[in-house]
Amino acid sequence: MPKANPRHPNFPIPGGPELRARGWRQEALLRLLENVLSVGEDPDNLVVYAALGKAARNWPSHRAIVKTLIEMDEDQTLVIQSGKPVGLLKTHAKAPLVIMANCNIVGQWAKAEVFYELQRKGLICWGGLTAGAWQYIGSQGVIQGTYEIFMRIAERRFGGDLSGRFVLTAGLGGMGGAQPLAGRMAGAAILCVDIDPERAKKRQQVGYLQEIAPDLDTALAMIAAAVKEKRALSVGLVGNAAEIYPEIARRGIVPDVVTDQTSAHDLVYGYVPKGMSLDQVRSLREDGQGQLMAASRASIVEHVKAMLDFQKKGSEVFDNGNLIRTQAREGGVADAFDIPIFTEAYLRPLFARAIGPFRWMALSGDESDIALIDDLLLAMFPENRIITNWILLARQHIPFEGLPARIAWLGHGERTALARRVNQLVASGELKGPIAFSRDHLDAGAMAHPNIMTERMKDGSDAIADWPLLDAMLLCSSMADLVVVHSGGGGYAGYMTSCGVTVVADGTKAADERLDHALTNDTSLGVIRYADAGYEESFDEIAAKGIGHVKV
Ligand code: NAD
Repeated sequence: MPKANPRHPNFPIPGGPELRARGWRQEALLRLLENVLSVGEDPDNLVVYAALGKAARNWPSHRAIVKTLIEMDEDQTLVIQSGKPVGLLKTHAKAPLVIMANCNIVGQWAKAEVFYELQRKGLICWGGLTAGAWQYIGSQGVIQGTYEIFMRIAERRFGGDLSGRFVLTAGLGGMGGAQPLAGRMAGAAILCVDIDPERAKKRQQVGYLQEIAPDLDTALAMIAAAVKEKRALSVGLVGNAAEIYPEIARRGIVPDVVTDQTSAHDLVYGYVPKGMSLDQVRSLREDGQGQLMAASRASIVEHVKAMLDFQKKGSEVFDNGNLIRTQAREGGVADAFDIPIFTEAYLRPLFARAIGPFRWMALSGDESDIALIDDLLLAMFPENRIITNWILLARQHIPFEGLPARIAWLGHGERTALARRVNQLVASGELKGPIAFSRDHLDAGAMAHPNIMTERMKDGSDAIADWPLLDAMLLCSSMADLVVVHSGGGGYAGYMTSCGVTVVADGTKAADERLDHALTNDTSLGVIRYADAGYEESFDEIAAKGIGHVKV
């Protein structure tokens, strides 16, 4: 039975034992599509997160996808082009059920303005990373990544945790909404600025944000008290980061850590320029895109200048993957890239071993399935400190949104071992229903993004997009259930290409084979990608785990 969804009553949360489709594989993908909308930011417009990241091109396409998933057989493959189903073709039962290519525009044309025009004509939509691929699980999807960043900073600079430390950030949207909880889990007093009061309220309702301050003075007083008492606290503040950051700097306050997760990547549909109301911005999105782009960029310049100012005064400042430095540099801030990107600064040694944001969703809708897998993880990987620490914290702090799900940064071999054990538990009936396994596209072999994932690679291979394309082909050859290639849309047009994958553990022997091949090969390619770029950790991993790397 689907569950009521108080946030979006028209988008119930899927679950229960009854199938509408002809098999669990098809039913699973249908539930994942329903799920991304049930936890999405603006499901009425099919928007899941990141301002424009959509689950399907439009409502007719959505309806056709749903109907096809319900009616298709296991030996067919549904072909989706930028959120629109275009073919249902006879393949075989080991082929992917769904393949997608979303928002891939030929190089010289891959620009925001071209994307907006194609979108206006209804010819394309942007899938974000996990939105168009039906893999989004709410703000939890990035929370462990954000937490691990905070912990790396804590280890390097603050003696192991962030208690008694002030973290300043902005953006409480679909992904940015993870920040207040990640900060609190790391022990910090974290202030999160967002221009939209509804976003702040939403994050408070779902349990990710504790307090909303009525004004900056009160917010800073709340933070100062928490810092003094070394008390973890998250405070939201409604305001424009391009005004609030410079004002905090002007008052001579220097936060310990500063970042930002507004939708700065998109100057039209994402970032809100200072001095403009949300209504003004919404109307300019229709008929004043040029004006809006100029105003957003001018505000981002001030926003980033304040971040650089904090950096000079000693704050740990980083770009959290929203292209804010790129926009500022184009606006004339020559030293914007003095701010490091989070991947290179904190997480690259993990990616070099293909340790990244793996995740699973309980298709039964039953939270006890996630609890059982949490126990399993703790039993299977007692030596893995990242995992044991994370699972204990996640259990305590992370509320479920939509289908119960868990994110955990696992690496090569670990993902496969867990998934195959879970498949046995589905078969034995110890789990209430099948489990879908997936990962963020921000994963070792899965993303080329020279200003985020692959910035300053050791061998200079930052802009080479062969890797995600190879990953997708390899995953199709490895029997994954859903395989997708995404490129950037809106402000990300021309900046990135990524690959996504989903495999369903339905308790069958065939699923065991699919999980084994797809998950093992996905992380193998991830390790190989970093070995190819010269990372020592990858060579260790290849030697220790017998990964099939060809040396030239
Ligand atoms: P979103 O569109 O759901 O939310 C963005 C939020 O920023 C909104 O709540 C909006 O009100 C707020 N905002 C916009 N301009 C503002 C301003 N000037 N001052 C204050 N608030 C402002 O987007 P999201 O899904 O939360 O993603 C945010 C950014 O993070 C995007 O650029 C996205 O691509 C990026 N991202 C990074 C990672 C990562 O791994 N680090 C993962 C996902 C998304």
